[in-house]
Amino acid sequence: MTAYAITLGLLFGSFLNVVTYRVPRGLSIVRPGSHCTNCGTPIRAYDNVPIISWLVLRGRARCCKARISVRYPLVELMSGLFGWAVLRCIVLALPAETPWWRALGLFSIHLALGLGLLAAALIDISHMILPNTITVGGTLLGLLTVPLRPGIGWLDALVGAAVGFLMVWLPFDLLHRLLRGRPGMGLGDAKLVMLAGAWFGWVGAVTVFMAGAVQGTIGAVVILLVQGRIDEPEAVTEERRKLVAAIEAAEGDERRELEEELARDPVGSKPESGWRKSRMAFGPFLVLALIEYQLFGEAIVNGYLEFVGWQ
Ligand SMILES: [Zn+2]
Repeated sequence: MTAYAITLGLLFGSFLNVVTYRVPRGLSIVRPGSHCTNCGTPIRAYDNVPIISWLVLRGRARCCKARISVRYPLVELMSGLFGWAVLRCIVLALPAETPWWRALGLFSIHLALGLGLLAAALIDISHMILPNTITVGGTLLGLLTVPLRPGIGWLDALVGAAVGFLMVWLPFDLLHRLLRGRPGMGLGDAKLVMLAGAWFGWVGAVTVFMAGAVQGTIGAVVILLVQGRIDEPEAVTEERRKLVAAIEAAEGDERRELEEELARDPVGSKPESGWRKSRMAFGPFLVLALIEYQLFGEAIVNGYLEFVGWQ
């Protein structure tokens, strides 16, 4: 079972690399098959083995010797470990009388959730976008799988999703727009906390949001201490430059539409100087908190309730 879980994690991790490379670039994830992103040569199966091929090729493509980022084997490693963690923390924690099909179903949906979240975090780090396919798709998966998952009912999941979304949308989007004229957080963050609620109820949504905020603050302090400043990702600067150029070239209605799009975008203006105005993706920290809650949540919440004497 351990070998199966890790292998499945590794294979999905390999696929995840394809997804995070192609989706933000608007390319198909099925066609063409794996090819070198530098020279276009198709990659042979034996050069496409998760982690091992990267080590054997010592981080360089066989075709043109272009450097292959260490990010690829790292993502595969994380996915393999995640497959193992889902088995240990979720599947093996089920009561012994759980039928095999239910255990397999739970393994599959939790692996899909964790890897989808990992993809969202990677895309958010480089593009400051959380794709709807993952945030809304993950929310739907959470709602649809309620009958399969122990300890949660339809009402818990629906209330959780609503609380999660409103908790971020009301103060950080609506209120912020009224006061400052621009949203303080992307809607993607609100949809990610909505996902947390659909999977883990309102307690899960609140815990994930708090834990994400705490870890995000620690992360920002660490980056400031190491780098002295927080830079926005290059791709974000580039995408804004393109949109501004398109506005300059457009006229009339089209121009107005593009200007509105820019004004709605939380990263639509150049970041102001000074660390208090720094711009950082919050998604990866929410994802971290979500995965922590997914694997250890029940234990943490019950431990806390016991500690304060509620149970
Ligand atoms: Zn090549």
